[in-house]
Parts: sequence; C-alpha cells; structure tokens
Amino acid sequence: HLDRIAAVDPAVHAFLHVDAEAALNAAKAVDEELAAGRGPVSPLAGVPVAVKDVLATLGSPTTCGSRILEGWLPPYDATVTQRLIAAGLPVLGKTNMDEFAMGSSTENSAYGPTRNPWDLDRIPGGSGGGSAAALAAFEAPLAIGTDTGGSIRQPGAMTGTVGVKPTYGTVSRYGLVAYASSFDQAGPCARTVLDAALLHEVIAGHDPMDATSIDAPVPPVVDAARRGATGDLSGLTVGVVRELVGEGHQPGVLAAFEAAVAQLRDLGATVVEVSCPSFDLALSAYYLIAPSEASSNLARFDAMRYGLRVGDDGTRSAEEVMSLTRDAGFGAEVKRRIIIGTYALSAGYYDAYYGSAQKVRTLVKRDFEAAYGQADVLVSPTSPVTAFRIGEKVDDPLAMYQVDLCTIPSNMAGGAALSVPCGLVDGLPVGLQVFSPALQDHRGYQVAAAYE
Ligand code: GLN
Repeated sequence: HLDRIAAVDPAVHAFLHVDAEAALNAAKAVDEELAAGRGPVSPLAGVPVAVKDVLATLGSPTTCGSRILEGWLPPYDATVTQRLIAAGLPVLGKTNMDEFAMGSSTENSAYGPTRNPWDLDRIPGGSGGGSAAALAAFEAPLAIGTDTGGSIRQPGAMTGTVGVKPTYGTVSRYGLVAYASSFDQAGPCARTVLDAALLHEVIAGHDPMDATSIDAPVPPVVDAARRGATGDLSGLTVGVVRELVGEGHQPGVLAAFEAAVAQLRDLGATVVEVSCPSFDLALSAYYLIAPSEASSNLARFDAMRYGLRVGDDGTRSAEEVMSLTRDAGFGAEVKRRIIIGTYALSAGYYDAYYGSAQKVRTLVKRDFEAAYGQADVLVSPTSPVTAFRIGEKVDDPLAMYQVDLCTIPSNMAGGAALSVPCGLVDGLPVGLQVFSPALQDHRGYQVAAAYE
C-alpha cells in the first residue's frame, strides 16, 4: 500500500500526511506477535488503515484540512486511533478533507482538493473525500471517516465504496475535532460491506471520555454482514422514502436506485413506500444548527492554544493577534459558517432560526419513528448526483449544500445509515443508502451485504 501511495497519490492527493515508518513498525509488531505464537489480537491485525485528518494522532500532524492547525502535533490519540492501534492496524497516514469537515467535495481543504480516482477531473465527494479516494485508488484497504451530515456516505457513493455512519454515540468522539458535536460521528469506510463491519467492531463501543457515548453493546454487525451475504432477505420490509426520490436527482441516479430496489425485492424483501414529510425541511434546519454549533466549537482556535499564530511581534494585543490569525488561518467556507452560526444564535434571532431548526429536528425524529413502524430499514439514493467536476460548484454554496439532501436526515435523528455501491451512471458510481433505527445498525449491514 505504501508503494501504491507513492505511485498514485501525487495525482489523487488522498493523503495529507503519510507515516511509512510508523506503519511498517506497527506491521512488524504484528508479525512478531504471530511469530511468538501469540495469535493476532483482532481479525484485522496487520491490515493497514487510513485515518481522516480530523482525528487526533499522537505526535503526528492533525490539520483538519485547515491552515490554522498547521504544525500542531496532538499530545494524545483519539479513542478511535487508540482502538485501531490496539487492534494491530497499522495507520498509513491522514487523509484529506474539507476544512473542519465543512463541505461536500473536499475542495474546501486548505491543502488542495482530492481527485476522484474514477475521473481525476472530478471531486470524490466530501468532506471525507480523502478516505474514500484512498480506498477507490487501492491506496488503503480500510479507512476511517466522520459523518456530520453525510461526509462518510456521500464520498462512499461518489467513489464506489462502502461508507457507514454508525448510530450517534456508539463510536467515541474523544479526540475527534468538533464541528457540530450533536451530529459528529466517526465510522468505517471500506470496499466491501464485511470489511466495513469488521472495522466497525474495532472502533465502536462505550467510552467514558465522551459524555454522549452510549453504554450499550455494539450491534452485531459482522454477524449481520455474514448473514446478509447468503442473499436471503425474506421476512424483511424495506421502506422507500418518498421525499428522497423526488426533485433534484439526476435521472440516471433514480434509475439506478429503482433497479436496486427491484433487486432487494428479488432477494425476498417486501418493499413499501413510506412518507417522511419533514425531511423536506431537514437540509435548511441542518444548515442552521451545524453552523451554530461550529461557531461555538471553533472559538477554541484563538491563536493561543493551537497551531498558527500570526502577527505576535510584541506590539499587538491578544485580540489583534487572534483576529489576524483567524483571518489567515480559516478559509472562506469556515468563516461563512461561523458568521451564519453566530447570527443564528444571537439574541433576538435565536427563536426564529436556531429554535425553529431544533423543532424541525424533532419532527424528523418523529418521521423516522413512524416510518420504522412500517419498515425494518429505509432506503434512498445516497447522493442525488454523481461526482461533479472540480470547480463546478465552488462559487455556489447553496448548490453545494443541496448535495447533502439525502444524507442529512439520519444525522438529525441520530440513527444509523450506510452507503453501498449500486452501479454506474455514465461511468460514475452511484450509492444506495440504507437507514436503520438507533442501535439496529446490523439491519443495514444485512441488507447491504445481501444486495452487494
Ligand atoms: N456537507 C455537510 C457540511 O458541509 C456535511 C459535512 C460532514 O458530514 N462533515 O456540513
């Protein structure tokens, strides 16, 4: 994999940082363990993994795709990183992403975009385009992403790989640089459903270091993926979400989705249509709540604590240095979100914007509950469009936000959702999204493995 990275990453740019020596040492340690007859510590021991640059890695660069964290070396490992290391997975390096995970194309990275291995003139999706592209280009067999509004699933769909957002609270956020804390969730990225399930079981589980971590057994996703692979979905009801197959989709994407639904029916599933009317409002509500949380979370980048510091020449006040540092260190989209969030939270506007958005969130949860009364899992396309050309949407933030249409509802409600490849349209990959209720992540794995 290191050779493959050296060969293709100059063109793909999936990685921001590769630590060959650390990866080789970790691999050697697994070999020694086996040679000493101690057996592998986990089924994935020795299998390399790429980690999105939003998760802290001890003593190794963690930039979040931002200039403001350039040069910062975390003094600790994120819980996810710790679990990967403990399970014997050599970490190849850190993958490119939209700055602070804000974006849908990886073009907001301060270090330049990642290119889609299927067509180097196109984006790989975002914000976790680096992790998805690393898989699609065979630079890594496994990767970690984070999903606040779709950043694992949408890049999965656009690169023909599998991306899973586990139930909120089942994978620790300790050491995951916060964007919108009530949505942020780390999860596995892989080329097959079973690989994703194996990685899922390595990283999931209760963590006292994360106040929102759920103290419950990890859903049996590996078993479900194995059961699904037998290809029998009889007894299972699949709900097609009416609101996610309407306007705004590229026609080819809808056709691929319909073919996937027909295949689920052939595998024995009962297919019904469900309606989730408030999903129509989810996107607008998300783009108020997420920037509101971001405006508070990003206040910590004050030029004192981390990374970049600009203009500290002894003549300026702390406030001036903070202002100069933020101006130079944050990109345009991050500034836009901070301003939107600060505005939405200001006295006098709070009820009109943030308050209404939170009410929409409750409605989205209720829609999911009602739908799960009629179906075991729900399905939709993952992204309404296939990978678009680099530069095509950079000047139109609203068009960029629209790409998250189908992924955001799951983050609003907190349940599980994944994307599994479902064919090509004009030579570009399309994803099938499967939603499961909270802590029932295994249902999605079973369906996706059967479909795959
Ligand atoms: N595209 C969405 C945003 O910009 C989602 C990003 C994510 O899931 N991190 O907020």
